[in-house]
Amino acid sequence: MAEGTGASSARRWRDKYLDLLDSHEKLKTSTEQQHDQMRRGLVMVSLLAEGQSGSVDKSLGELRESLKPGATGMTRVLDELERAVRRFEEQNAAQAEVLLGQLSDAADKLSRCPLPRPLMKRVKTVRKSAAKELQTWSGYISQLQSWMQIMGELATLEGYDDAQSSKWWQKWFKPNDDAANDEENTEDSSDDTEPGFSHIASEVSETLISLLSQPVIPERLTYHAESLKKRLQDGLNWYELVPLLEDTTDFLLQCLGNSQTEFEQFLQSLDQRLKAIQILVTEASQSQSERRRARLDLDSMVREQIADIRSVVTGSGDLGELGISVRDHLTLIVQAMEKYQQDEEEREQRLEAKLAILQERLNEMEAEVKESRVAIEEQKRLATHDNLTGLPNREAYQSRLEEELMRRHRYGNALSLAICDVDHFKRINDGYGHLAGDKVLQLIARSLRKNLRDIDFIARYGGEEFVILMPETSVDDAMVVAEKLRHTIEASPFHFKKERVPITISFGVTEFLALESPDTVFDRADKALYRAKEEGRNLCHKG
Ligand code: GH3
Ligand code: MG
Ligand code: MG
Repeated sequence: MAEGTGASSARRWRDKYLDLLDSHEKLKTSTEQQHDQMRRGLVMVSLLAEGQSGSVDKSLGELRESLKPGATGMTRVLDELERAVRRFEEQNAAQAEVLLGQLSDAADKLSRCPLPRPLMKRVKTVRKSAAKELQTWSGYISQLQSWMQIMGELATLEGYDDAQSSKWWQKWFKPNDDAANDEENTEDSSDDTEPGFSHIASEVSETLISLLSQPVIPERLTYHAESLKKRLQDGLNWYELVPLLEDTTDFLLQCLGNSQTEFEQFLQSLDQRLKAIQILVTEASQSQSERRRARLDLDSMVREQIADIRSVVTGSGDLGELGISVRDHLTLIVQAMEKYQQDEEEREQRLEAKLAILQERLNEMEAEVKESRVAIEEQKRLATHDNLTGLPNREAYQSRLEEELMRRHRYGNALSLAICDVDHFKRINDGYGHLAGDKVLQLIARSLRKNLRDIDFIARYGGEEFVILMPETSVDDAMVVAEKLRHTIEASPFHFKKERVPITISFGVTEFLALESPDTVFDRADKALYRAKEEGRNLCHKG
């Protein structure tokens, strides 16, 4: 009873411990998979964001390095990336300012010319909008288009024939300090193929070159920008102005188009990666409620970021703002990931501590079970064995007899029984004392056991009487065994006080026959023993 309770309790604890180990292992694996997915997501995002600026690209490269398994210092790389993006934006702003100054100069000059009122008004409006428009890429394009239109209209002003137009251009392009000599200069240059344009050619070239040197031009279009710049540097003439402006506009539109597509792809990919993370997070939330809560927090955080990014994408064409926004969102996601990881580690540590306590408890219980098993075994042994000789007792004989009879019934093998009794044992007790008698019993028991096969069973049936069960043995074979045992005991040298004392034993041997009760068989063997005693002892009789 005690053994059953101890064993099932130990099993329960072991099962519990193994379950915990199992779930701990699963948690660890799923966390590692998520971190790997997130890392891969960030690498994709950084690859898509490339090509805007050399220093930003460098930081993105470092970010990817820091995302490799086993790398550290992601926070430092993110700080550097933030600085690089900020520098890149400041450079853009400075460039826009220079361009704004140049456009204002041009507008100033135009406003001093006798232009038709609607055109003058347009010049003023375009100039007014320049500061705001130059803050964004799309604004750059719309400024350039406005100036293109103004230029086009200036070039085809009604009422100005070629000659007049030349004069008109000369007047406009002529430096201000020479205004007093206007008439003279006009006359002198009436035959010029490039009427006065050379005065502003360098200014126009400079403005366009500075526009083409914008750091926001994607790297794959730099070659195109360089060839346009070369055309400008080689010397700009009046006839090339409009086609060159058209080419520049096309180029910038291409920049913007690519830029937008690139950002769109970038954001779409970002969106997809975030969705993948989200699905992972949702799927992974299983067993523990604490884990589920942590996952839901991360999940809602990621959802929020996606929603924010979407609203920025749809609500603004402003790529600068978009860049900052995306960067901010990424930073927040990375922070959330790091926090999640930290929490996860803490949870793992708590779980490990619990497991350690459980392990300790389990060890204690195992030790207890071991102790009680030894005690139980000992009790069991005491209950089934004889104290004096160490042989199985009468109870043990009864249960072994049942087993052997069942085996015999199942396989039909022979089974023999021998009853053995020490001859005149009373005399030994009387002559040498009970202790000597005990000693003789121990020696006889040891000798009998030693001379039997392992499959044979011997028990002390009571007093100086032993029973032997011999499986797979016929009565004739059993008689041979009994004879051998009898002879061994007879030949054993028993000495008391240096005097040899002859000890003999007698046997009654029989075989279990079909359908016989054990009592009948026992009785038959007992009767045979009785006959052996009657016929003089130290004999084996078959019953
Ligand atoms: P027989 O040849 O007819 O068997 O004669 P016997 O003297 O052996 O038979 P009896 O039954 O008259 O005596 C058996 C004696 O064995 C009586 C008892 O005191 C002694 N005896 C029984 N158990 C023990 C024991 O554990 N130790 C000792 N020393 N003697 C025992
Ligand atoms: Mg007896
Ligand atoms: Mg006897």
